Amino acid sequence: MTSAAVLDLFRQSGALLEGHFRLTSGLHSGGYLQCALVLQHPLHAEALGRALGAKVAGLNATVVLSPALGGLIIGHEVGRALGVRAIFAERQDGALTLRRGFVLSPADRVVVIEDVVTTGGSTRETMEVARRAGATVVAAGAIVDRSGGASTLDAPFYSLASLSLPAYEAERCPFCAQGIAVTKPGSRI
Ligand SMILES: [Zn+2]
Repeated sequence: MTSAAVLDLFRQSGALLEGHFRLTSGLHSGGYLQCALVLQHPLHAEALGRALGAKVAGLNATVVLSPALGGLIIGHEVGRALGVRAIFAERQDGALTLRRGFVLSPADRVVVIEDVVTTGGSTRETMEVARRAGATVVAAGAIVDRSGGASTLDAPFYSLASLSLPAYEAERCPFCAQGIAVTKPGSRI
């Protein structure tokens, strides 16, 4: 699956909007990404999981670990593609932890899977969950890499598509400067 094909799938699903948007943060951007809108279609989720799984096949992973909630569906599909368990870490008192009886052991080789990596913060935190349990993190992966190459992870990182969607203060927004009308993502354009 090429990066262009992945982004086309996002566009078709309304998961990638291009134009001039006011985000909930108040910042303006030329694009808006909402992975849940592509992953709501199980067949798309399965295809993306298979494509991401193919990138990490051969690493002898024994388990996929994802941060809830964004990484859950794609992590499950990568687990399906690899034929291994797919578990998730969730926040308790602000820190990501394994709950629900999920267990990682020192014998486990973990692939950390997310929907989108922007700063890499939650990916790093999820990797830490695996290492605290004594497991080895063999790779990290995401459907979309929004880090602009800035994300530095201490494990090999794989993504299906790269996307740069800078956000601007309204006063510095180049789209405002061009007089393009701003809309809220999700409203009819
Ligand atoms: Zn603007």
